Amino acid sequence: MKISKLKILQSFLQTKHWTDIEKLRQFQQKKLRHLLSTHKDKFYPNSLNLEDYPIIDKAIFMANFNQINTVGITNEEAFNIAITAEKSRDFSPVFRSKQSDIAIGLSSGTSGNRGIFLVSQDECALWAGYILKRMLPKPYFKHRKIAFFLRADSHLYHSVNSRLIDFKFYDLFQPLIQHIEKLNQQQPDILIMPANALKRLAQMEDLHISPKKIISVAEVLEDDAKEQIEKRFRQPVFQAYQCTEGFLAHSCEYGNLHLNEDAVYIERDWIDKQNGRFSPIITDFNRESQPVIRYRLNDILTACDAPCPCGSVFARIKKIEGRCDDILIAQTKNGQLFDLYPDFIRNTIVGLKQPPQEYRVEQVSGSLKIYLKPMNNDLINDISLALNQLFEKLKIKPFHLEFLEYTEPPLHQKFHRICRLKK
Ligand SMILES: [Zn+2]
Repeated sequence: MKISKLKILQSFLQTKHWTDIEKLRQFQQKKLRHLLSTHKDKFYPNSLNLEDYPIIDKAIFMANFNQINTVGITNEEAFNIAITAEKSRDFSPVFRSKQSDIAIGLSSGTSGNRGIFLVSQDECALWAGYILKRMLPKPYFKHRKIAFFLRADSHLYHSVNSRLIDFKFYDLFQPLIQHIEKLNQQQPDILIMPANALKRLAQMEDLHISPKKIISVAEVLEDDAKEQIEKRFRQPVFQAYQCTEGFLAHSCEYGNLHLNEDAVYIERDWIDKQNGRFSPIITDFNRESQPVIRYRLNDILTACDAPCPCGSVFARIKKIEGRCDDILIAQTKNGQLFDLYPDFIRNTIVGLKQPPQEYRVEQVSGSLKIYLKPMNNDLINDISLALNQLFEKLKIKPFHLEFLEYTEPPLHQKFHRICRLKK
């Protein structure tokens, strides 16, 4: 797929630092009006009022795929192209519409629950310019080597390749150890990886690289992992909240996460307003091949009201805590359902005097399966005691606790340290 370098550069130059909230709001209204008056799909209503649009989720979006996309591709055709690419690990095939080549990406999820995302050549250029501006260290016009670890490659990512940028894709379907030599040769300045793979890379002894910027993507970045990675590479870890649905947030030079409010309009669906937890409902200003309007993501974000010293007026978020499916369902003592957020469990376990090196927690109805490394009686006793104190404090019925040996999960699957398994 050919991506116009000129359009990338234009997008790069147009992407700016917003320091005036009034101007940002005006810009958003202009973008929204444009989107709502020009979208060409057969699914969304014709209205200039965002509230007239239904709030949808991945299931509704996928069920109406053929009506939502404007390039004339069916759900089946798109899946076939994307799945063939994933299996062969050759991500070059595209769908050719009348106006443009269309790259096809799959979002993560169980087999029946995967989303398909379409990106045209122009959208790709726009995205590339935008993400480079938000994530590249200054000075911008300097030669950079980027190592990007992902589960699936995409035209999107290769669009950033240029004379200034040497971009290499590292396939997470291969064991990490097999990438060490290539990394030592490439000597990347910028390292982009899912949080859990980054943490494991930081433990590799034969690795001799010194990246200038480290960016964690796709998974929850936990404080202890962040510390370990920073210690190994002697650099702060930044985050890009980039998913197939869009590029939603980035960490600024101060390491604080900001929503990309000049690219995406974000409404908040509060799940725990008192503590600032919400799921984002996103409306993407720039998607034409497959408009994304009021699409609710299944993620838990925590809001942060404090202004940022970087001066940006983009809303801040304290953290990305996980998916809504990561919320454990407990019962109060009088039998009401109670949302037990993953952070409650996480903070209890890592807050122990001697926390485990690794752990995972899965809820299976009334039980918690706790996988531990190392697995020993002291740790089992400490964790049982601390969790039961937590349950008591929250006034919920205690879970039955079951302890098992921890095994490393495969890197090509999205890592969830704490989750609830559906029966
Ligand atoms: Zn900031």
